[in-house]
Amino acid sequence: MKSKILVVGIDGLVLERALDSGRAPTLAALNEAGTVSALTMEAPTLSGPGWSTLLTGSSHEQHGVRDNLFAGHRLLLRPDLLSRAFYQDQSTTTFAAAGWPPLVDPAGIGPVIHERREQQRAGLHRMIARDGETYGYRTVDGEIAEFAVYALNKSGPDVSFVYFCEVDDASHLNGAVGEHYLDAISRIDAHLARLRAALETRAHAKGERWLMVLTTDHGHLDEGGHGLGSARERASFVIATGIGRNNPDWPDVIAPESLVPLLLAERNPAGNV
Ligand SMILES: [Zn+2]
Repeated sequence: MKSKILVVGIDGLVLERALDSGRAPTLAALNEAGTVSALTMEAPTLSGPGWSTLLTGSSHEQHGVRDNLFAGHRLLLRPDLLSRAFYQDQSTTTFAAAGWPPLVDPAGIGPVIHERREQQRAGLHRMIARDGETYGYRTVDGEIAEFAVYALNKSGPDVSFVYFCEVDDASHLNGAVGEHYLDAISRIDAHLARLRAALETRAHAKGERWLMVLTTDHGHLDEGGHGLGSARERASFVIATGIGRNNPDWPDVIAPESLVPLLLAERNPAGNV
């Protein structure tokens, strides 16, 4: 049986701060149970290039996303994780939900996740786009969590990407230290708890093998902000936790563009027949 994969993107998360805060019990439990790898993102440490790299397995040079405007991007030539999983095996079901429109909204300047309308019409692919820039990420992240929990409970897509942005938003407004940042972290942690519970229920009830993967696109300066090449801004991580299966055997340090090929290899890992 193939492993199913849920990638959760938490924009602008400073992992150590979240773990040290005691406000993120689910994140801490996944960090404790899973395989943890450090990533150093390529500068400029902006969301557009960062997520494009993490989701397509491409360098900035390859995907051509230089900033959050996406002008001149080459994403149509750099298929995302969900698309590549489908191209490997055309029975693969995929799901993406995000409140930052460039990731998933085909009407906007992206999207990083390919629309694949034929697969949507065939019931193999689903994309949910919300606009946290307009309506606020606290509300929109809550909606994204609801959609994701529903999709996981109902159909358990083979490869999913679910994205939260309130932590990044809070840091831009009030800095990456203090109560606002930690409050946002605790709300995202509650979303993670529901997602993990959905996977555990499926693994237990149906014998499915799941890999729950957490990552971020950049860190944040203490005063809030990112984009340049400091160690703090470039710091990212991957936490990959097996649910109903083993953890992946990944190195302590991986390149950001290696995440997609590592994940695709985990769909059918050696020894999992
Ligand atoms: Zn970001």
